Amino acid sequence: MKLNSDVEKVLRNPKRILEVSIPVKRAQGKVEVVRGFRVQHNDAAGPYKGGLRFHQDVNMDEVKALATLMTLKCAVVHLPLGGAKGGIVLDPAKYTEKELEQITRSYVRLIEPFIGPDTDVPAPDVNTDARVMLWIADEYSKLKKKKVLGVVTGKPVSHGGSVGRDDATSKGGMFILDEVMKDFGKKKKDTKVVIQGFGNAGANMANILYARGYNIVAVSDSKGGMYCKDGLDPLATMQCKVKKGSVVECGGEGFQPKIGMSCMRITNEKLLELPCDVLILAALENQITQKNAAKVKAKIVFELANGPTTIEADVALAKHGVVVIPDILANAGGVTVSYFEMLQNKTNRYWDSEEVEKKLKRIMVAGWKNVAKNKKKYRCTYRQAAFITALERLAKILTLRGGR
Ligand code: NAD
Repeated sequence: MKLNSDVEKVLRNPKRILEVSIPVKRAQGKVEVVRGFRVQHNDAAGPYKGGLRFHQDVNMDEVKALATLMTLKCAVVHLPLGGAKGGIVLDPAKYTEKELEQITRSYVRLIEPFIGPDTDVPAPDVNTDARVMLWIADEYSKLKKKKVLGVVTGKPVSHGGSVGRDDATSKGGMFILDEVMKDFGKKKKDTKVVIQGFGNAGANMANILYARGYNIVAVSDSKGGMYCKDGLDPLATMQCKVKKGSVVECGGEGFQPKIGMSCMRITNEKLLELPCDVLILAALENQITQKNAAKVKAKIVFELANGPTTIEADVALAKHGVVVIPDILANAGGVTVSYFEMLQNKTNRYWDSEEVEKKLKRIMVAGWKNVAKNKKKYRCTYRQAAFITALERLAKILTLRGGR
């Protein structure tokens, strides 16, 4: 695309990196210091925007990469937002709700000068949800001595959240997948779908696709997966997961995903290698690597997670004819409805689910069309086309601003 080298230099570096240490008094009385990050990659297009995750493996490199992807993602779907990401290094299962609240509130106090409705607006990501977002909004409002709901998105609907934010990532993904399937020429009921990750993005995607008639044959979470060659019912699977703690426990005897059908347990490793039409990655980064790329039998890899395919694996998949629908397009529905939430908070006028869905569909399909157009023009992969689409827009903005 002959990207202007000044633009490239600017986008290679995050504008601001914050690292904080959060002391927390554990229930046993001992003090522990938890590390947290916020990376603000670029705000040329608008306020920084990006999720906050809780995970024991969060590190600065990961947060920088995810912040960069956010800048590109917002640009692909033409949102007036920049890119950021946050992370707190902890395994939430090892902390009480009260401790998690304390940690979140301390994190907000430490990064407060750098966030705000017009500056940087966090959102939910891995292991964070509407409850965590409410703690952030509440702590920030206390510090500012006024109600500032717009400092964060993904809040509960009763507290300034947008309807449709919960499953926005998945619904946006569904609009893109429907477009992809038009070229693919297979009926929905004959389209076998495997989903890695059964959390917010993955479980909602399973429900939405199931309701549209797709055949979901396998799902997994961090403990392992279940494979039902004739298809499964995601709602029954979720009920079983809630009861037993993991979908892997539902793959054994005694659980029938549909009357008369049976399932088997499967490792996460094997799940990625199942024969299917669509493999949806909805867990974490670096799941398809150089090691397992050649074993992927799916025809389409759909990246609902951020960065689930390594660069080397991406090349290998393309060589094997696997179509990859890249994260910055596939999961842009989440940030799109977050943007809607920002608009609703600013105007104090709240939309109904039809309005949210109609506007989400319009933005996602337009993003898809722009990427598909560039794919044809540059004869490249969807990922390259998505990057080109994003960079064309960012280059225009940055050049007009004099390269900053
Ligand atoms: P989540 O915490 O709700 O769910 C993550 C799921 O992945 C859980 O079921 C967990 O058990 C599972 N998991 C973790 N490690 C795994 C592994 N090795 N193998 C299989 N499953 C594993 O998180 P989420 O919000 O659904 O996010 C998932 C991905 O989607 C992340 O990459 C996130 O950045 C991306 N994403 C989320 C949103 C959103 O709105 N939630 C928006 C855009 C992108």
